[in-house]
Amino acid sequence: MIRMLIVGYCFGIRSERRLCEEVHLNLAYRWFCRLGLDGQVPDHSTFSKNRHGRFRDSDLFRRVFEAVLRRCIRERLVGGEGFAVDASLIKADANRQKGIEGEKGLPPEATSRAIEEYLAVLDDAAFGAATEVTPKFVSPADPAARWTGAHGGQAFFAYSTNYLIDVEHAVIVDVEATTAIRQAEVLAARRMIERSMDRFGLYPARLMGDSAYGSAEMLGWMVYEHGIEPHVTVFDKSARKDGTFSRADFTYDHQNDVYRCPGGTTLRTSGTLVNDGTTMLYRTLQHECAGCALKPKCCPNTPARKVPRSIHEGARDMARQIASSWEGATSRRLRKKVEMLFAHLKRILKLDRLRLRGPTGAHDEFLLAATAQNLRKLAKLIPLPTLKPA
Ligand code: SF4
Repeated sequence: MIRMLIVGYCFGIRSERRLCEEVHLNLAYRWFCRLGLDGQVPDHSTFSKNRHGRFRDSDLFRRVFEAVLRRCIRERLVGGEGFAVDASLIKADANRQKGIEGEKGLPPEATSRAIEEYLAVLDDAAFGAATEVTPKFVSPADPAARWTGAHGGQAFFAYSTNYLIDVEHAVIVDVEATTAIRQAEVLAARRMIERSMDRFGLYPARLMGDSAYGSAEMLGWMVYEHGIEPHVTVFDKSARKDGTFSRADFTYDHQNDVYRCPGGTTLRTSGTLVNDGTTMLYRTLQHECAGCALKPKCCPNTPARKVPRSIHEGARDMARQIASSWEGATSRRLRKKVEMLFAHLKRILKLDRLRLRGPTGAHDEFLLAATAQNLRKLAKLIPLPTLKPA
């Protein structure tokens, strides 16, 4: 049955009923599924029974994914030096017209397997606990799917598939399903990196990603906790739009731990941490700004100027420096390999909408699809054994 599912995901056969018909008729599929010429093809209904039973209990799909990845590592398709991470939205199997207003919540009498799963992941940081914001709509068919308008058009219910890939041959090193918001995707990136270290001893030297992974906290985690070079676009909202000086106009002096303003005055910190212990404030003294000619362009409404600095600012500075180098430009090009895998997933493997409901359904589908993508990569890159003459 697993071999049949792999055939289905490799060739974009999304319906299990159709998959059974195809395997019944196609000799190559029969050979791959070890059915022989007269072997009986399982009934399509048995897939669903096994998926909710023994497949899930044994976490079988992850084991299959890891077995394929192990083979990729053995064939030297995984360099383990540069990784890229990204997430993509996949529509959930939930009708957007039938959403219930998030404030009202689900009716108390509603019960289903998807609702049970939703309740089970309410405290999981990759799902329910990722944000305290109530979504505009909740789907009664699959309440764990998130209502999102991130694509700019009509909003819909979706999950995120998160990929961690090795950029050498674009082999998927890990995959995870999360709710469709940034905080959950960042958490998934951390989980995937730590899991690839634990399970396969893969310690990437550099990680590539877009600004979703460029928060101060995430960059600090990469640089200070794991010694990973951050080839990530820094998430920076410090630029001011009212024409007054932004933080970038102040120069930081690493040696003396002070900022210098455009007028040449020094901004010092008392060392007190604010914002839940994540930020230090650097300030001028009131009398220093009082007679400054630049005051209208600097702090027109306050007597002195203060500049916030994250405790992870060193990691952010490192990311900015890398981004402006030629290595940064190369990394931005390489990280497109993840986007290409998502395009392949949706266009060729036809996984632009999930068939299964609930977080475990999304998890199973994403794992099987990633396994199929790695298998296709193996088939493409490993040379076929040469046939011996008879
Ligand atoms: S107003 Fe104060 S902080 Fe701003 S430029 Fe003048 S001296 Fe520097």
